[in-house]
Amino acid sequence: MKKIATIIKGPAFHMVGDGFRVKNYIAPGSALSKKTSPYLLLDYLPEQIQPPTTNEKRGVGPHPHRGFETVSLSFAGSVVHKDSAGNGGVIGPGDVQWMTAGSGILHSEYHEKEFARKGGPMHFMQIWVNLPKSHKMHPPRYQALTASQMGRAVLPDNSGEVSVIAGSYQGAKGPAKTFTPINLFNIRMKSGGHAEFSFPAAENTALMVLSGDVTINSQKVKAHDLVLFANGGEKIEVKAETEAQLVLLNGESIDEPMVAYGPFVMNTEEEIMQAVNDYRGGKFGHLED
Ligand code: MN
Repeated sequence: MKKIATIIKGPAFHMVGDGFRVKNYIAPGSALSKKTSPYLLLDYLPEQIQPPTTNEKRGVGPHPHRGFETVSLSFAGSVVHKDSAGNGGVIGPGDVQWMTAGSGILHSEYHEKEFARKGGPMHFMQIWVNLPKSHKMHPPRYQALTASQMGRAVLPDNSGEVSVIAGSYQGAKGPAKTFTPINLFNIRMKSGGHAEFSFPAAENTALMVLSGDVTINSQKVKAHDLVLFANGGEKIEVKAETEAQLVLLNGESIDEPMVAYGPFVMNTEEEIMQAVNDYRGGKFGHLED
C-alpha cells in the first residue's frame, strides 16, 4: 500500500490573464515540482462564468512556451486555442488538449465565443509535463484528444468509470502520445463505489479530488485536495463516500537539472537565456491575437 506523503489544499485563487481564475497546486521549479516530476505545474479552475456584457474576449493572449508540454483538461465549459505552429481548436467537455511546446511555440487561450456568450460552469485543469533533455527541443506537436477517443474501463460492481487519457488501466489504453511513461486518468465514481490502482514505488503518483468525499488508503480526503503519495508501496485504494470525480497523475520521474523561468523550463541557466533571446528574436514564430 502506498503511504500518503502530503495533502495539498492549494492556495487562494489568482487570475491567469483576464479569463481564468485558478488555484495553483504545483509551481514549476518549486521544491514540490521536483517531487512530482514529470508534472511541473497543476492549475485547477472550478468556476461559474457569467455572460459578458460586452463582446471582448476573455483569457490569455499570445505568449511563449519552451521545454515542456501543456495539457488542458475540460470537465465543463469550452476554451478556444490557437498557436504559432498553425494548430487550433476548441477544447470542450471531456476533451484534452496535449500541446508539446518543445523547441518553442506561441499560443493563446480564450473562452470559446458561444460559451462566453451563454455563460455556465467552467471546470478545467491545466498540467505542465516536463520533457527530458533529449526532447526539450522537439518540434512543437499538437494532440486534440476528444472525449470519445479516451480509453474506458468500468470499475468493479459497476461503481464508476475510468477514462484513460494517457497510459493504460485494466486493458484500456489512452490516446495520448507521451515522451516518458505517464498514466493520466479521469475517474468518476458512484456513491459507495470503490477502485484500486497499482504503480511501481519509484514512480511519482498523485490524486486530485475534483468533487465528492473519498477515502484514499484509509485516509479521508475532501474535494479540491491534491494527495501526493510517497515513493514506497504500490497499491492505492479509493472508496467514494459520495459521488466523486478524481484525476490520477502518475509518471516516471525525469531526474535531470531543472531551471524554470516564467513560461520556459530548461536544464540550465544558459538554455533559459537562449530561450529568452530566441523568443525576443522572433524564433517562436508569429501569432495574430
Ligand atoms: Mn500557455
